[in-house]
Amino acid sequence: MMGYGHWVDGSWLEGHSGERFERYDPANGELVGEFSLGDEIDVNRAVTAARTAFFDGRWCKQAPSKRARVLNNVADGIENAVVDLAAKITKECGKPIWQAEDEVRLVAEMFRFAAAITRTQAGSVYDLGPDVLGLILPEPMGVVGMIVPWNFPLGTLGQKLPFALAAGCSAVIKPSELTSLSIFPLVSILESTGVPTGVVNVVTGAGATGTALVQHPQVDKISFTGSTTTGRSVVRNGADTFKRVTVELGGKCANIVFADADIDAAVEAATVAVFFNQGEVCTSGCRLLVEEKIHDEFVEKLVRYTKTLQVGSPLNPDVHLGALISKEHLEKVESYVKLGQEEGAMMVCGGQRLTEGSLENGLFYPPTVFTRVNSKMRIAQEEIFGPVLSVIPFRTPDEAFEIANSTMYGLAHAVWTKNLNLAMKAVKNLRAGTVWVNTYGQDFAELPAGGFGGSGFGREMGVQGLLEFCETKSVQLFLNGEGVVRFP
Ligand code: NDP
Repeated sequence: MMGYGHWVDGSWLEGHSGERFERYDPANGELVGEFSLGDEIDVNRAVTAARTAFFDGRWCKQAPSKRARVLNNVADGIENAVVDLAAKITKECGKPIWQAEDEVRLVAEMFRFAAAITRTQAGSVYDLGPDVLGLILPEPMGVVGMIVPWNFPLGTLGQKLPFALAAGCSAVIKPSELTSLSIFPLVSILESTGVPTGVVNVVTGAGATGTALVQHPQVDKISFTGSTTTGRSVVRNGADTFKRVTVELGGKCANIVFADADIDAAVEAATVAVFFNQGEVCTSGCRLLVEEKIHDEFVEKLVRYTKTLQVGSPLNPDVHLGALISKEHLEKVESYVKLGQEEGAMMVCGGQRLTEGSLENGLFYPPTVFTRVNSKMRIAQEEIFGPVLSVIPFRTPDEAFEIANSTMYGLAHAVWTKNLNLAMKAVKNLRAGTVWVNTYGQDFAELPAGGFGGSGFGREMGVQGLLEFCETKSVQLFLNGEGVVRFP
């Protein structure tokens, strides 16, 4: 059995309480590992290590060119370890192995981009008079607490850590108690490729560690990804210590198909949009809005295609959907499917947990499609976070935008049309941090992502993603004694 302590100041640290928790593979029930159950004292040790590393300048005072070289080395290290990292993600998370491999490659890509922007990170200069210069300097915020969810254990970390390191920050990472395995080989890559000891620390736990991190007075910033409910509590708990906070929360994204779209392409993309990662994605395309003129033909093709998707062992490269993350989560998905039926939506495929044959010890749920969904139904308003699609018909573009904008969320939406004017109208009318046009779910390191409204605030990735880890310092530089102030 694999047992893991916390990773603090470059060493394994047994947890203060000595207690551990176990994690089991959701696809077959086998033990994944045993992890230290962190508490406030463990969090404090990790924060102290990160703070010491920050203030002695071992990372933040290195020249950007040197930091960039290290971040590129980290990217190389990750690319060399894709197979191992992906295997660990799949084991703890249940997602298909090919998706885990793509996730790891994307993390490497984030480090490469972060390496590039650490060298171009610049402030600005104002000429404020013949002998006065005003400088605006970005400076690293300090110690960042990163609370990372289970659906993309390394992918979400990849939207935070490279950018924080590029800014010069130190980090304490709190992985989800459901996915605390894959972080450790990543941390050894960081250490072996030149990130100085103590700059990145990891505390595992369940139930108390996240709050301890948020309330710690020497953590300067919290970057949280997870549920809207917990995000609210992170914002509230951080207030006492004036914590800078970024919260990337839930979504209820609309995937809008207009009648002039390439229907076959949109059908296939709509299934990937919602069933990728078993639907356990904050940007899942879980509401499919289809223009009435093409609705019946579209749904018929969609259901036919959905029925060809394979659910099964995530290690099988031909599988499209693996296992859900936990029994509790599977029950939540089941309860929403029941609710959809009670609300009067029509279930046209899926809807029953899969337990036959090799699936008997795992948490498998088939792709499930509801039609005749009304946008006021709870299944069309609340985040299910599973392989459940609600199809909603619409007549006009304005009606589609109104439905899309009608939830508390605003994370991402997509439109499918060949009409550029209509696409631009959608871009202007959809209230979300990301709008995809004739595609779905792609990430580019260059483009910031984040939410409007209940989907949270702050941005990850892009140059903006780095600035989220910086404070701004204004400098007034007076030359030739011109700055001396005197009473009249
Ligand atoms: P949560 O949003 O509840 O987050 C759990 C993590 O947050 C754990 O690491 C936990 O650590 C920490 N935490 C819990 N309470 C606090 C707090 N008050 N302050 C600081 N940290 C805290 O995720 P769940 O795993 O419970 O998933 C629940 C739902 O969230 C899912 O069903 C899904 O709908 C949504 N979700 C959304 C994601 C997204 O990408 N936006 C990702 C994952 C889930 P500890 O217990 O040690 O404090």
